[in-house]
Amino acid sequence: MQFTKSEQLHKEALEHIVGGVNSPSRSYKAVGGGSPVYMERGQGAYFYDVDGNKYIDYLAAYGPIITGHAHPHIAKAISNAASNGVLFGTPTQLENKFAKMLKEAIPSLEKVRFNNSGTEAVMTTIRVARAYTGRTKILKFAGCYHGHFDAVLVQAGSGPSTLGTPDSAGVPTSTAEDVITVPFNDLDAMKEALNKWNNEIAAVLVEPIVGNFGIVEPHEGFLQEVNNLAHEAGALVIYDEVITAFRFTYGSAQQVYGVEPDMTAMGKIIGGGLPIGAYGGRKEIMEQVAPLGPAYQAGTMSGNPASMASGIACLEVLSKEGVYEKLDQLGERLEKGILEKAKEHSIHITINRLKGALTVYFGVDQVTNYAEAEASDGEAFGRFFKLMLNEGVNLAPSKYEAWFLTTEHTEEDIDQTIEAVGRAFAQM
Ligand code: PMP
Repeated sequence: MQFTKSEQLHKEALEHIVGGVNSPSRSYKAVGGGSPVYMERGQGAYFYDVDGNKYIDYLAAYGPIITGHAHPHIAKAISNAASNGVLFGTPTQLENKFAKMLKEAIPSLEKVRFNNSGTEAVMTTIRVARAYTGRTKILKFAGCYHGHFDAVLVQAGSGPSTLGTPDSAGVPTSTAEDVITVPFNDLDAMKEALNKWNNEIAAVLVEPIVGNFGIVEPHEGFLQEVNNLAHEAGALVIYDEVITAFRFTYGSAQQVYGVEPDMTAMGKIIGGGLPIGAYGGRKEIMEQVAPLGPAYQAGTMSGNPASMASGIACLEVLSKEGVYEKLDQLGERLEKGILEKAKEHSIHITINRLKGALTVYFGVDQVTNYAEAEASDGEAFGRFFKLMLNEGVNLAPSKYEAWFLTTEHTEEDIDQTIEAVGRAFAQM
């Protein structure tokens, strides 16, 4: 494959955009460097770069594109919204409609508020939890990424750890001191932390199914115990469902495990590909938020008609019968196929998969927490990534990310991908 135009564009970008990219995970720094591929258009499960190369896409824009690129129902909704005016600064009916849809899908959301990104959504849940409890400290799990605001850039998983900056420069030590980090799936460590900082912890923040050091499920009973322990300590439980909401079921990880948090932050899929964030939870907690309560949060673009229309349309597609079963079947086919090729070529991998999302880790036997993900072979992943790119299969350029299936992938796409994996493994 030729990447001449992408390379030229990257050179140009380096002159104008810091690092050539508008989000660090898009650079190929973690896979041995080189110019990222510049996409021109996407259709369904495929996208096409500026050099005319076609790829089967498993990046899905880091999760949001679950219905594939340029889904006609979503495209139409966005274009209708665009022709009716994209921003008013007043409420619109679409916000009510979408809020009701989210509440029906995720019963723990008694009240919601829309904003513009996952970062904003999580950031506000923390502010609200602090306002509600009158406490300051936050307990989070190592390797979980919750956005790029100061409080959560502490042992923060895929992006930052890939780039070797788990604690970002510019985050005040005083802020980091308010964040306690324990290993995921480790209840003893959590108990210890809650005992040590008894009466100080405002909230326990968790990705109920981790997406940021690959797909890692909670051990059986883990989430229930997180709730029990946090509540005994007077802390709230916040689920960061920016990746997980509508990824595994029509609803959230809460329905997958039958455990409800006090507050939930969302993003990605609920915007159907346009910028969005949303948070919600128990009524009396949410009533801390302005204009009802003393916790301030606002946004010029929040609840904008285009994002609302796009999100509504995306959920309409996802609410159709059989969507998640199909994602699961495709995921299973892909997982099995990759494992067979690994056996055939004696490549040591482990796959974590939940329905239509999976991570292939090289050189390890299991990944249940961040340390185990960190121990996986990034150099082998880097080689695999580039071989797959040359095969016309686009993955996220980091050993910590997931492969995301979309409703538009077909069994044929999966089988082609498996053959490509076989050829890539043969060259490793
Ligand atoms: N939380 C989680 C779990 C995420 O995966 C991400 C983004 N990868 C965020 C928060 C931040 O979302 P955004 O990039 O929309 O700010």
